[in-house]
Amino acid sequence: MLPVGQRSHDHRAANLMARSMSAGFRAAEAIDLSRKLENGIPTYPTHPKFFKMCWCAMGDPARMNQFVLSEHTGTHIDAPSHFMPAGSPGADSIDALPLDRFMGPAIKMTFGPFAASNVRVGAKEIRDWEQANVAIEAGDIVLIDFRWGHRWGIGEAGQSFLDSWPGVSRDAAEYLAERRVKLVGTDCISLDPGDGGGGALAAHYTLLPQGILIMENACNLERLDVISYVMALPLRLGDATGSPVRAVGWNIKRRHGAPESG
Ligand SMILES: [Zn+2]
Repeated sequence: MLPVGQRSHDHRAANLMARSMSAGFRAAEAIDLSRKLENGIPTYPTHPKFFKMCWCAMGDPARMNQFVLSEHTGTHIDAPSHFMPAGSPGADSIDALPLDRFMGPAIKMTFGPFAASNVRVGAKEIRDWEQANVAIEAGDIVLIDFRWGHRWGIGEAGQSFLDSWPGVSRDAAEYLAERRVKLVGTDCISLDPGDGGGGALAAHYTLLPQGILIMENACNLERLDVISYVMALPLRLGDATGSPVRAVGWNIKRRHGAPESG
């Protein structure tokens, strides 16, 4: 048991931490980066579909639904185990990853809009973007807005979301890995383009074995500032190759319509 003085010191430190975190979030505006999960949302062509079903409870007065979904439903994160042989070193499942891998300072870069032609954004374009905007730092989350999200839709209306979407090239993935980012996200259904980058799926095979996570189907990226704080927490699904996430980005709060004070 700690002496009384020590305990109150710990409480003071905890209080300071809790209040400064609270002040940080109050100074920021939260942007929801996650898609709503509902029947008919786009899924990767070979992946399981999403179903929400009413659970007719047997005499239970409470209302409830049942969801049937994939680890890669909606806005989700891929764990290294998604593209690595089971049991190989570093093939971590989503529940094995420490929480700090899902949060941190984020850089958002925008490319496009592109035609439905499996465009690959390369390392040069990322370096040029950095020159014109801000440099990526080690440990950053990098989110790429391909300006593809407006194609998302339910059922037939979402068909064009799955038509030859853009992604990153192998050299772009290698460059981001070199910069030691922690996570790379996209507004498309995969970080590899619609043709899998010629079928090689180079972004997945480059990033995941190096422990760099991938987030797919993010939305509202156009509302996110170039620099923000992002948190995308997965469900603690045992031995899963990925998980849906509730991704939130925090922009610095601007004072709308308030006169500049001197
Ligand atoms: Zn995935």
